[in-house]
Amino acid sequence: MSQEKKQEKNPPNEKMESIIALCKRRGFVYQGSEIYGGLAGTWDYGPLGVTLKRNIEGLWWKMFVDDREDMYGVDAAILMNPNAWVASGHVGGFSDPLVECAKCKKRFRADHLSDKAKCPECGGLLGEERQFNMMFKTNIGATEDAGSVTYLRPETAGGMFVNYKNVVDSFHPKLPFGLAQIGKAFRNEIAPRDFIFRVRELEQMEIEYFVRPDTWEVHFELWRKSMWDFIEALGIDKDHVHELEVADGDRAHYSKRTIDFEYDYPFGRKELYGLAYRTDFDLKSHQGGSKQNLEYFDEETKEKFLPHVIEPSLGVGRTMLAVLNDAYTEDEMGGEKRVYLKLNHRIAPVQAAVFPLLKNKPELVAKAREVYASLKEEIGRVSFDDNGNIGKRYRRQDEIGTPWCITIDFDTLGEKPELLDTVTLRNRDTGAQERVAVRELVARIR
Ligand code: ATP
Repeated sequence: MSQEKKQEKNPPNEKMESIIALCKRRGFVYQGSEIYGGLAGTWDYGPLGVTLKRNIEGLWWKMFVDDREDMYGVDAAILMNPNAWVASGHVGGFSDPLVECAKCKKRFRADHLSDKAKCPECGGLLGEERQFNMMFKTNIGATEDAGSVTYLRPETAGGMFVNYKNVVDSFHPKLPFGLAQIGKAFRNEIAPRDFIFRVRELEQMEIEYFVRPDTWEVHFELWRKSMWDFIEALGIDKDHVHELEVADGDRAHYSKRTIDFEYDYPFGRKELYGLAYRTDFDLKSHQGGSKQNLEYFDEETKEKFLPHVIEPSLGVGRTMLAVLNDAYTEDEMGGEKRVYLKLNHRIAPVQAAVFPLLKNKPELVAKAREVYASLKEEIGRVSFDDNGNIGKRYRRQDEIGTPWCITIDFDTLGEKPELLDTVTLRNRDTGAQERVAVRELVARIR
């Protein structure tokens, strides 16, 4: 247990270390239960991290639920009837290959090792490979016998398959249509590592898209394109993402075709998202397990059949890490080294910051407060800062990725009459400053 409490780490990686340090320093991500020495595979999102995370999720929900006519959102319970996980194949087969070192007792995922005989940490002999089920078990109610066992869901997908019939019965959607869900999933990863990349408590944004069996290839291609659209909307450089056709034998038990979208993380090219053709595996399994008829009745053709499923599956934490890695920039400005996050304005935790030039001049502060209040009402994610000199305030906002800084000075108050009610608007990426009328600010920032 003691070794389990520490986060496992790769060899030091300068960029990762810088990102992790910035995340902690500026309140994006903290180690889970940090004051107790942490808990492996868990991370806590701080004030700026939770906003960034919600913005990513909001963008996904807008693109794939609100802006479409064929999508239905759900928010299912994390605890489910355990029979659902028996039917889905997770109780029997949701496992990773585990090996243990005979000398130091450390455990590793066998498929992540290049030498499966020797311990990568102490050189000791590795034992026999065995399958380790990654679902977290828990007990429902006051007894702890076999009959009370259930699981924390290992993917959000299950909650959608068990609600497929409910949505069909309440909304009578025409095929193709999809269910969408954002929520927590839990995997007892053998070796959680790489900051928020591989964790034990994760968040997923998943879609189960139901189609006529003979049209799956068309919809697979459409979702493939949509995933690229989302990557672009996040502001991630598409050259940093690569598709990998997952070979037979490497795919999950339910999939007939999978494309992994891999991202160039500082620690190597690793999976960001997955796109899977799950056939009618899940509906068929749940139909068998629940003894409920889950067939779809096509009003036009009068046919009854089980729809097939295309599943775009996206991890929130892995998205956030890719976004942060792409955004993290070091340059020089005004002869000083600067760190800034080149975050897309759609997801930046703060979209604009308002400063009075001096904090001990009540007339400047009052005007700055007025501009701040009106921008906050119009735009939402706006902050106010009167602490330290303007240069320092710019650096602080740069570091959290705020695209615009607005300074209220004596000219705003009319010291130069021709500049009355104008402010200095400063661009995060170029540092360029321009004079803009207060009434034009909202349009400019948008
Ligand atoms: P890996 O091969 O990296 O373990 P996976 O193929 O098991 O991932 P999926 O089952 O396809 O992952 O899960 C869908 C998505 O959920 C992944 O593409 C990823 O974004 C996210 N995800 C899965 N496992 C984790 C984890 N342990 N920590 C963070 N995100 C995860």
